[in-house]
Amino acid sequence: MIVLLLGSGGREHALAATLAKSPKLTKLIAAPGNPGVARHAELRDVAVDDIDGVVALAQAEKVDLVVVGPEVPLVLGVVDRLAEVGIKAFGPTAAAARLEGSKAFTKELCAAHDLPTAGFRRATSLDEARAGLDAFGAPVVVKADGLAAGKGVTVAMSIEEATDAVEAIFADAGAEAVIEEFMTGEEASLFALCDGETALLFGDAQDHKRAYDGDEGPNTGGMGAYSPAPVLTPEIAERAMAEIVRPTIAAMKAAGTPFVGFLYAGLMIEGGAARLVEYNVRFGDPEAQVVLPRLKDDLLELLLAAVDGRLEDRAPAFSADAALTVVMAAKGYPGAYAKGSEIKGLAAAAARDGVTVFHAGTARDGERLTANGGRVLAVTATGADVREAQARAYAAVDAIDWPDGFCRRDIGWRAVARLEE
Ligand code: ATP
Repeated sequence: MIVLLLGSGGREHALAATLAKSPKLTKLIAAPGNPGVARHAELRDVAVDDIDGVVALAQAEKVDLVVVGPEVPLVLGVVDRLAEVGIKAFGPTAAAARLEGSKAFTKELCAAHDLPTAGFRRATSLDEARAGLDAFGAPVVVKADGLAAGKGVTVAMSIEEATDAVEAIFADAGAEAVIEEFMTGEEASLFALCDGETALLFGDAQDHKRAYDGDEGPNTGGMGAYSPAPVLTPEIAERAMAEIVRPTIAAMKAAGTPFVGFLYAGLMIEGGAARLVEYNVRFGDPEAQVVLPRLKDDLLELLLAAVDGRLEDRAPAFSADAALTVVMAAKGYPGAYAKGSEIKGLAAAAARDGVTVFHAGTARDGERLTANGGRVLAVTATGADVREAQARAYAAVDAIDWPDGFCRRDIGWRAVARLEE
């Protein structure tokens, strides 16, 4: 079977490495990929948002399945376009991708089906937004509608801060905002593998969004993660599947826009129950780098079963081991950073017990491996528990020689503290 994988981050390296284990795979092609993905795939220089280019590549290579990593091509309708030319793709259609592409759409769906989530008000003008702020009071959460790569959300501790945020949103004509009740609790992510009708639990994780130790500093795409998430007990996870994820999948099907793909539910856990913070319509990055190494089943076979609507009797199996990943980023990230510095020592790091170094933003420059992005490596380790995974991941980080990079030294602190309780 010939598979085309779209994307170029650490998540896609983890997907490529996991797909490559399948005996069903005859050839893996990736667009655009990265030097880590290249160990498992032939790379093609097509950008993920070049939908015409992706369709032409899939046709030229006669691929049997396209696996979509990031959200942008999904929201742009790559799955719909591939379907028009008879090519199977794992991921939601543009209509189903609205679960991530529009926060207002998801909040309306939650309201219509009484799913547990924060109370909200939609606003299409500054006045409506101000009325929403008055209704909830501080603290309050302000979100721009539409994809904003994690930058459209303000958790405001005061009405002044919230007002600044809504004014910034409505500086753009045609903008829409969602004002939300502030939820307290501990966040965790749950993943579901969906075939349009059936949704199966596909692991869980917790990530660290802030740039610096102690969960301080600016927000990032994620500086590290671990799986499983101790706060998400099997009972809470199953309840979240029953009360949030499965009703969502049923509602999408009833609306004529069935959801196929990975549904990522960002949850707030408090008092033994979960409430929905947000949906993403693809795997998380860096969460994929800790969930996929624990998968015991054939990923390609599961993705095909999802695309063909055959998930009903399946139950993906995961190892009881823990996995933890430490993101190494270029100094300056998430602000301005330089590209091109040399990275050494990856082979020694990757040779350590239980360790895999996923490439996120690297490039090859002749024999040299260089930094080519903000988040550059995801140094991942498995272990009998999260403490062992953490020790192994940091030992591997210390074997990497990259003076221009930095990482947090406390990834997994909450889970390790729980073990010690
Ligand atoms: P990303 O995809 O990067 O997580 P996003 O732009 O899709 O971000 P959300 O996930 O909706 O935005 O919100 C980002 C963060 O803001 C959440 O992870 C959570 O920490 C916080 N947050 C969002 N909504 C609420 C809420 N109602 N109550 C408390 N915190 C919230």
